Amino acid sequence: MQALTKRAQAVDRKPMTLMERLYLPAIVKGMAITFGHIFKKKPTVRYPEEKRPFSPVFRGLHVLNRDEEGRERCTACGLCAVACPAEAITMEAAERLPGEENLYREEKYAARYEINMLRCIFCGLCEEACPKDAIYLSETFAPANYARKGFIYGKDDLLIPDPKTEPEAYAKAKGERN
Ligand code: SF4
Ligand code: SF4
Repeated sequence: MQALTKRAQAVDRKPMTLMERLYLPAIVKGMAITFGHIFKKKPTVRYPEEKRPFSPVFRGLHVLNRDEEGRERCTACGLCAVACPAEAITMEAAERLPGEENLYREEKYAARYEINMLRCIFCGLCEEACPKDAIYLSETFAPANYARKGFIYGKDDLLIPDPKTEPEAYAKAKGERN
């Protein structure tokens, strides 16, 4: 039958040579490649038993910082939210009341502070924008979650432990870099 177009290509089926028909050389060649890989260093990491060291510039989960007296540093100025390219940060400011000086360092503080981790791209611009050293990206991962709601981190999730009452947890959350 005549082809309708000229795109059809006639395939030249060459008869197999004796070596090709034996298949053994090809099998031996394949096995040599397989055995060659057995003695090579494995590129895979057996996580979680084995952990790779983080890069010195790794940016992980956010932490809302406290000062050395345990007071919240954030003054709800909103600069981090403005700097955030993903619009992941929202907050509500409140005024510090008399008697709350031991809780909040500044006269204004964040009554509500939220980061949507599904939006966050871990760029670190919020950390750079903050004039109060109140937010930084730590050396830990944001844990996995089955629900979208679980990725909205509030103040309870973000606030670092109090250095006065929980010094060990504070040092652990602070990490070695900060
Ligand atoms: S790390 Fe970047 S994307 Fe994430 S909250 Fe901060 S500024 Fe926004
Ligand atoms: S974390 Fe820093 S930049 Fe963001 S609102 Fe608080 S003080 Fe301002």
